[in-house]
Amino acid sequence: MLSSLKTIIQEVSQIPELDKALVRLVSMVKATMMVDSCSIYLSNYAERHLVLTATDGLDPDAVGKVKIGFYEGVIGLVGDREEPLNIEDAPSHPRYKHYPEVKEESYHAFIGTPIIYQRKVLGVITMQQKKARRFSEDEEAFLVTLAAQIALEIVNAQMRGNSAALDNGTPFEPRTVNGIPGSPGLAMGIGYAVNFKHDLAQFIPRKHKDVKEQITRYRNAVQMTRTQVRDLSADLSDKLPDDVRAIFQLYDQLLDANSLGREVEKEIHEGWDAGSSLKLVIDRYATRFRNMEDPYMRERAVDIVDLSNRILNNILYAGDDPSSLRVPDGPCILVAQEVSAPMLAEFPRDKLAGIISIKGSNNSHAAILARAMGVPAVMGLQRVSINALKANELFIDGYSGEVVMQLDEQVKQSYQVLIDEEEALQRKISVEGDLPCVTEDGQSMSLLVNAGLTANIEMEQFKQGEGVGLYRTEIPFMMRERFPSEREQYELYKSVLSTHPTKEITLRTLDVGGDKPLSYFPISEENPFLGWRGVRLTLDHPDIFLVQVRAMLRASIGLSNLHILLPMITSVSEVDDAKRLIKQAFLEVKEEASAENQMLSKPAVGVMLEVPSVLFILPQLAQRVDFFSVGTNDLTQYLLAVDRNNARVSSLYSSYHPSVLAALHQIQQGSLANKVPVTVCGELAGEPLGAVALMALGFRKLSMNAYSLRKINWVIRNTNMQELKALLPELMAKDDPEAVKSLLSKYLESKKLGGLVRAGG
Ligand code: PEP
Ligand code: MG
Repeated sequence: MLSSLKTIIQEVSQIPELDKALVRLVSMVKATMMVDSCSIYLSNYAERHLVLTATDGLDPDAVGKVKIGFYEGVIGLVGDREEPLNIEDAPSHPRYKHYPEVKEESYHAFIGTPIIYQRKVLGVITMQQKKARRFSEDEEAFLVTLAAQIALEIVNAQMRGNSAALDNGTPFEPRTVNGIPGSPGLAMGIGYAVNFKHDLAQFIPRKHKDVKEQITRYRNAVQMTRTQVRDLSADLSDKLPDDVRAIFQLYDQLLDANSLGREVEKEIHEGWDAGSSLKLVIDRYATRFRNMEDPYMRERAVDIVDLSNRILNNILYAGDDPSSLRVPDGPCILVAQEVSAPMLAEFPRDKLAGIISIKGSNNSHAAILARAMGVPAVMGLQRVSINALKANELFIDGYSGEVVMQLDEQVKQSYQVLIDEEEALQRKISVEGDLPCVTEDGQSMSLLVNAGLTANIEMEQFKQGEGVGLYRTEIPFMMRERFPSEREQYELYKSVLSTHPTKEITLRTLDVGGDKPLSYFPISEENPFLGWRGVRLTLDHPDIFLVQVRAMLRASIGLSNLHILLPMITSVSEVDDAKRLIKQAFLEVKEEASAENQMLSKPAVGVMLEVPSVLFILPQLAQRVDFFSVGTNDLTQYLLAVDRNNARVSSLYSSYHPSVLAALHQIQQGSLANKVPVTVCGELAGEPLGAVALMALGFRKLSMNAYSLRKINWVIRNTNMQELKALLPELMAKDDPEAVKSLLSKYLESKKLGGLVRAGG
């Protein structure tokens, strides 16, 4: 039975239009299960009925016509009770209702099961038999399993917008899909899908006799592509931080790679033309990259395919720029299967309102670039096809990762209000955001920046900031093809430490593992977030740890602002081990410094509080370190047992959960009692609601991404610490995250800050 189930699902999922897929499904089920009828009814929430959508056994003319109220008959009963109903003789059931159009008079045995997705009943699937009998447990289990799988197909079809049956009244109107936040901000515009005139994926290989001519053609195309990519990179160079420019260097390196050229020319010698030879080689490369376990390397397949499409277009259209775009007037949301850096670079900046990448994550080059360019972006929108997005009016929320499709006039207007409010706010904030960070009643707060991509640029954006509260050193590690040398690290850290010599700069030691891979140091684990990450990995590799700490210490010679932060601390012994290594590195560097008559100050050493175990060993940790930094992102993930990157459970992930607030309260009280300074550096600190919650809880130091700094400064200047303190008991007594957020929103509204809630709240 399991194999028939697999066959049915496999075959049905190949059919792109849902209506046709369901027709095939019911006839396959009928034949496989040897029943007399199988039918599917889909929910229409607007009209509150179930519509017969596909049947093999009932009258086909009734499809689309028979509409059964949500609480009517045995079909309605299945939907209402949200569980299977197995009846020996349906006509004698008290809830049976006769629908003459379906012509089911001769049927007696009935089994129906609801099709449910994320707690919503999408429809009902039934099997019927003429003979009165009870369906067996196996048959019931089959139908339940099938229903769970069809639910996904239905949701996918709805998101793709390719089902007539789902056009109205589906439970998810307006069509909202959740992806991964790639770059903050709100935008609305027409979805514009970038298409190369010729796409390698669709290119059919063909033979050619003139080897010499094809080789020349290929080499010219590579040269032309190199010039185009360099021009794009030059156009953007003043807007891009150094690390991001490395993306274009990668393209240059790929073009220079002799191996690629040699392989293509070998295929040309075999008799293929230039385009076909390129396709044959690139297909092999891309498959190799796509099959790599390491997500960073998998992402590189995007660059290879993008680059090859550019070469192909140059081969086929010598002299015709493949990147020339015909972009519609007005704001556009750039949509692509995998948005690449050059796609972004060549898109007219004045029309680029936002970006959607079907594949990719927060670490993708496109996301990094979008953040550098200040364009809102949503990544990893896996459940939608480009067809559903292109030429459609779209709203994207780069803070939450939400994309809304099929906007009606009223919805559009309300989103426009949000966008306008955000713009007005940004203007206001940019004028006043650098004023001292003091509440209405005179309580000052310290704001710091979370950096990593380019701390100098980030620091520049907020001159008033009191320093770097979190420098994520793993990002420069991830942007390279090997571990950075001590010298490379030294130069990077030196530039950060010396930009603001009087401000505290917190460099976190390498926090890779989990969702942050290093292409050159692959780790394959069943549960990466519970595995070898953060300090666990670096303590097992004192070589990596010592090189990094030495680089930090050498960079701090002559300065006294270095703070070293240890990620993923779970136990006291990890702190002891790390401190021993830091001391060893300190003594080595001190000797070198003394030899040159230079001064090395002792760095402050702190730990991230992001694993729940530390809540219970705060006094022991306090004896060993100079400061605490609370990582609310991981603390929430581990406290609630919700993977922070899993879209399926993302509705359960909330740093406003009362348990998270209780943990934060315990941390704040524990830090105070043990006289250890504490900063909060997770995303919560950069959200307006989160910042006021943290203020009410007693935190006075917040570190956040550069985009949020001015906004939070503005919030703080308009709030009142006494009022927030008074709010705390009520806040702590709330039952769930929504109630917590609603109380905080009300407070912000009372301070005329309501417009901030959407923008990152
Ligand atoms: C956190 O976990 O809250 C944090 C700041 O670290 P990261 O997001 O880098 O894991
Ligand atoms: Mg963390």
